[in-house]
Amino acid sequence: MSLQQRVQRQRELDDATAIVERCRKCGIGSTRRNSVYGEGDPCATLMVVGEGPGETEDKLGRPFVGRAGELLDRMLLAIGLPREDVFICNTVKCRPTLDLGNRLANRPPTPDEMSNCRPYLDQQIEIIRPRVILALGAPAAKSFMGERFAISKQRGQWFDGPGGTPIMATFHPAYILRMTGGAMAEVKKLVWNDLKAVRTRIDEPPQPEPAPQQHSLFE
Ligand code: SF4
Repeated sequence: MSLQQRVQRQRELDDATAIVERCRKCGIGSTRRNSVYGEGDPCATLMVVGEGPGETEDKLGRPFVGRAGELLDRMLLAIGLPREDVFICNTVKCRPTLDLGNRLANRPPTPDEMSNCRPYLDQQIEIIRPRVILALGAPAAKSFMGERFAISKQRGQWFDGPGGTPIMATFHPAYILRMTGGAMAEVKKLVWNDLKAVRTRIDEPPQPEPAPQQHSLFE
């Protein structure tokens, strides 16, 4: 990857960030404090996609910060990928909230919000062209693999993602943090197996581009 290509990709991501900052396609576009476009290496081999920003992400305008973010950082480092070498984002770029009167609570994004925001995610994938996408949690996985996707049964399996990019889903770090004792150890083991499979897939030699068809001069 040349420096020129890297700069070009970063420029495209910056332009898209500015568009997302002005976006008000959904109601949550007006209740957010900050949009959370995503961050990381514009030439990342791995793109991590979560469900949506939570309270801390909304406050800081950054994806996967707070306790779940710290765990994600450790998970990535365990397969030799510092956070800054990965691109991290969400299916929606604004925090989905539920108004409880005295405070706003996090909630999963609605299908409409996901569908409104999808072009931004698709564009990120097109710009970065990762080797592998890792979806974290059921809502993110379903946004790629369809509503029938069952994370407890189908996590750790490979699917064809946008543009044929291999995609796998695993449990969300926030889910791991909600577990205790033996259940947490079991979930961590499953996630570790998934992460190792991701690392193996990233390390596979890139598939060669199909050779252009040769036409004989004498046809
Ligand atoms: S969630 Fe996405 S589509 Fe909806 S307002 Fe925010 S940036 Fe726009």
